[in-house]
Amino acid sequence: MELHSTTAHELAPLLQKRKISSTELTKAVLERIEKVEPRVNAYVTLTPELAMRMAQDADQRLQQGNTVTPLTGIPLAIKDNMCTRGILTSCASRILHNFVPPYDATVVTKLRNAGAVFVGKTNLDEFAMGSSTENSAMKLTLNPWDFERIPGGSSGGSAAAVAAGETILALGSDTGGSIRQPAALCGVVGLKPTYGRVSRYGLVAFASSLDQIGTLVKDVEDTALLMNCIAAHDPMDSTSGNIPVPDYTTFLNHSINGIKVGVPKEYFVEGMDPVVEQAVRKAIDTLAELGAEIIEISLPHTEYAIATYYLCATAEASSNLARYDGAHYGYRSPGTDNIVDMFSKTRAEGFGKEVKRRIMLGTYALSAGYYDAYYLKALKVRTLIKQDFEQAFQQCDVIVTPTTPTPAFRVGEKTEDPLQMYLSDIFTISVNLAGIPAVSLPCGFAGSLPVGIQIMAGSFEEGKILRVAHCYEQAAGFCRSRPTL
Ligand code: GLN
Repeated sequence: MELHSTTAHELAPLLQKRKISSTELTKAVLERIEKVEPRVNAYVTLTPELAMRMAQDADQRLQQGNTVTPLTGIPLAIKDNMCTRGILTSCASRILHNFVPPYDATVVTKLRNAGAVFVGKTNLDEFAMGSSTENSAMKLTLNPWDFERIPGGSSGGSAAAVAAGETILALGSDTGGSIRQPAALCGVVGLKPTYGRVSRYGLVAFASSLDQIGTLVKDVEDTALLMNCIAAHDPMDSTSGNIPVPDYTTFLNHSINGIKVGVPKEYFVEGMDPVVEQAVRKAIDTLAELGAEIIEISLPHTEYAIATYYLCATAEASSNLARYDGAHYGYRSPGTDNIVDMFSKTRAEGFGKEVKRRIMLGTYALSAGYYDAYYLKALKVRTLIKQDFEQAFQQCDVIVTPTTPTPAFRVGEKTEDPLQMYLSDIFTISVNLAGIPAVSLPCGFAGSLPVGIQIMAGSFEEGKILRVAHCYEQAAGFCRSRPTL
């Protein structure tokens, strides 16, 4: 067994019985990084010394035996838009190239307290805006299954790192699909929890009403373990839900006999890769064989989801990104002689093309005379999309769809055509607009490229998702496939 290709739930008992040490495990992961990172480019920042120190601390805890959690001693990667005290948090943007936060995001604090080992900060599309990680100002991350292809985005670094064995666990963030889409394209499991289930305190804001932190790991059981650590009410995030958190592992190893699985007819669209469709249909057959009842449902406002998202998300982004002005922190354009010039040059030089496009679109949608026609209209359609789901969940327990219309595309294939890029989130975006949870997990291959299936449930019903996902995963076994590097 190669340590880097195992899971937290396999490693935790070995660590606790002292069969292996965290130091040994962390070394194995760092060696793996040394070997494959030059080709994958998953990390913006590596923290090997910190990792070794944290591993030693974890070993001490494991030796003493008290305060041990299932994550104690387990290597973890963090998307580089979550604040980490003393560690660069760049959002893969020039404008934050030198930003070292003086505080930790709540999830980071929780993981420190649990004894996880931080191996580094992963690459993303600048400010999490994108679907391929090509919008990073730092580097080009490649898909470990095929180095000519993108890993998806925006959490492409986290997904690629997990797939390549460069970490055991990873965190991502998902505003319109940024955990699930890269999870699908890299053949790993990615959960976007309910809006408000995991604290956003310390997550650099892109679109605050949509952003959510979640997990990128190798299988459903690790998803449950990581969720047990990060899901909680947080007084530092006024949008976090004050709702009891269940033990997510209690949803594993149950039958799905009699569970009602809704399949929305709007999600099998023209332009979808037939091999992807085949894999997803086969997964739905598997669910039926496992005892689920499959029913066709309708989410009638699906066709408006992309337009609605790109109005809401850009409007919020234009407001959130106003803080990057060269005065407070981050990049400042050198040699400007008045403040207006400083603001404008800093932003012109600090932001990349896609971020500027979003700021302009959002500013336009919010401007006097257009606000009602665009932003307000989008908010109304967003309510209709939310209601679609509420109605659907009266007929079924979970909804199953493809995660993406195609497998991983080629580097450069969609960079000149933003609309094509936006369309790659067609199946994931509605979930964020509705605020509900959804997971993507591997359900087959298109040639050598992984394909993902998406399972959604009602708000705060992550447990239902995990139950169905775990049952499917055990039967199908695709989560055990790893790319050969
Ligand atoms: N791809 C979508 C976008 O570009 C979603 C990104 C995300 O979820 N952060 O906005």
